[in-house]
Amino acid sequence: MADLNTDVQTIVGVGEKRAAAMEKLGVRTLRELISWFPRRYEDRTELRRIADLSPDETACVAAMIAAPPTASFIRPGLTLVKLRAVDDTGVLDVTFFNQTWLKGSLRKGETYIFCGRAEGDGPRRRMASPIVEPEGRQELTGRIVPVYPLTAGVSQLVLSRCIRQGLDACADILPDVLPDEIRQEHQLCRIGYAYENIHFPENAEALDLARRRLAFEELFLFTIGLRRLRKRREVVEVPPCQAVDMDGFYNALPFTLTKAQKRCVDEALTDMSSGAPMNRLCQGDVGSGKTMVAAACVYFCVKNGRQAALMAPTEILAQQHYDGLGPLLEPLGIRCALLTGSTTAKTKKSISAQLAAGELDFIVGTHALITGGVDYADLGLVVTDEQHRFGVAQRAALAAKGRHPHTLVMSATPIPRTLALILYGDLDVSIIDQLPPGRKPVETSRVPGSYHPRVYGFIRKLVDQGRQAYIVCPQVSENDDPGDDRKAVTEYAQTLQKEVFPDLKVAFVHGKMKPKEKDAVMRAFAGHETDILVSTTVIEVGVDVPNAAVMVVENAERFGLSQLHQLRGRVGRGEHQSYCVLISDSRNEETLQRLRVMVKTTDGFKIAEEDLRLRGPGDFFGERQHGLPGLKIADLGVDAQLLQEAQKAAEDLLARDPDLTSCPATAERIAELFAQSAETLN
Ligand code: ADP
Ligand code: MG
Repeated sequence: MADLNTDVQTIVGVGEKRAAAMEKLGVRTLRELISWFPRRYEDRTELRRIADLSPDETACVAAMIAAPPTASFIRPGLTLVKLRAVDDTGVLDVTFFNQTWLKGSLRKGETYIFCGRAEGDGPRRRMASPIVEPEGRQELTGRIVPVYPLTAGVSQLVLSRCIRQGLDACADILPDVLPDEIRQEHQLCRIGYAYENIHFPENAEALDLARRRLAFEELFLFTIGLRRLRKRREVVEVPPCQAVDMDGFYNALPFTLTKAQKRCVDEALTDMSSGAPMNRLCQGDVGSGKTMVAAACVYFCVKNGRQAALMAPTEILAQQHYDGLGPLLEPLGIRCALLTGSTTAKTKKSISAQLAAGELDFIVGTHALITGGVDYADLGLVVTDEQHRFGVAQRAALAAKGRHPHTLVMSATPIPRTLALILYGDLDVSIIDQLPPGRKPVETSRVPGSYHPRVYGFIRKLVDQGRQAYIVCPQVSENDDPGDDRKAVTEYAQTLQKEVFPDLKVAFVHGKMKPKEKDAVMRAFAGHETDILVSTTVIEVGVDVPNAAVMVVENAERFGLSQLHQLRGRVGRGEHQSYCVLISDSRNEETLQRLRVMVKTTDGFKIAEEDLRLRGPGDFFGERQHGLPGLKIADLGVDAQLLQEAQKAAEDLLARDPDLTSCPATAERIAELFAQSAETLN
């Protein structure tokens, strides 16, 4: 009898070569094979008649080949197979490119199903490179057909046949990892039915049932796994922080914290006083004041006699934090220093010595903070800014510098709380859902490329009033693709300087520049030595230039929603009314929808939700190397309801049976899924 860990080579038709190809997909065992889920489906159930096809419609027709197919050699690398097929209503001329073998395998007088995009109208139609199979075979047509992610050497048909065999071999031995009562309570189908119908759906309802069950299972296991990781953290004991009179800090601020900031501070202080290490994510929209939450925590930690570190992803951000926090905290008796890649060796040495001796309380820096040679007397708190720029490994490296220091991660990618729980793994989440008072929302508009002269005029007007402007382009030069209309930053900046703004100071910055050069340009802009900054998205991360009042985005269609929102967040940070101009000639409906969202709202949470809905969570995951198992089937963009159900079921189960003794199959599967993360996260 087969076992789920049996090698895929036991499948008929899978030899060494195919097994190697499958391994690229991460498919080595039967379990992995049958868990290779379709990316999407095509409903090829319905057969149409040739004359009834609408022009450009993609559809399946059953038609008989009227004359033997012919092959003609067009030029090296291009061979054309042509045939004519007919049904009772019309004629279909079919062409295939570079599929010469079809000439021999498609026979005159026999009926085939052709599935593709029909061109033309009336009783004569054309189809180029359709999917074709003999009538009655029903593997690629005649049903809802799965479309799998592929790799070279494994076609849809091959994969689908292998999975058929895999399912037949495993059907009876698949353990149901969902406890029966949970399955019933949530009306989820059995595991065998789910696997069968996710690959070979009988009909649309069966597919729905299967998908729902597997997505639920995934979210359920994920939730339990995360809860257990968190639990493991809780058993680590650290000396609880003592209460501190925070008024010293609050009175030193030039403003009152917003309610939301205050709540986040309180949540963090409670964590730090609990006796277990804090592991908290503070997320808030751009400009919501995350830095002050961090500063409060630093104050609290230092007043408890321990050291704190703040790590930023770039030198300029580190510098900015230092420039802002130093003057606030030093007078409160907190000894601060800055450590980055460009700190001289001598200074670095003396800072390290002071850190090790406990003569510094608070260090701000880049990843220089985690390099060897920097030791701390008693690192109690690690704050990382803009977390998606740091991997878990880097955070862990800094944390390893102390004995289970508290960690606070600040992120400007706001997402709904239920999703944060999944996306940010085992972190507790605080949300700053309120902006400081008096902020003027950035006025956003979308204009076509023909508006460039007006946009330049607008920039000039603002610069004349003493403001500064950002112009963001999608990519740096170096692409020799002549059809590519991406604006090369360098050339564009030069053109602007020479031809449009000869009397103003135009600077540029892009990702290919050395960090030092980049920082110098950013610093000059922050110091108002330049008026207009042309850049790629390197400015995306939190640089604060309150005097910048307009953000122009070229080829706005090339940016994702969250990215546009981050870019827009670079302006509107001061007292000046600010503007965001999205330039795009795109007619793509999805793009237009994105841009409309931008024009309509400045609420980062709404935007993140829309973004998730429009492009799916893949990219959210992509930004992070968290070492947690990925979601293969659940779609956080559409499964929000299911996520809540699964989370609730998971919590109920853990409350009843924290060690999962009643459901060993569940426990075992979670252990497998989280084997890797248990290592990385500890
Ligand atoms: P972000 O959340 O994007 O990191 P920052 O911490 O940089 O935001 O804060 C943005 C600006 O708002 C800063 O200039 C900061 O001094 C200011 N700020 C923060 N909190 C408040 C507040 N409660 N009232 C007024 N201004 C505030
Ligand atoms: Mg910030």
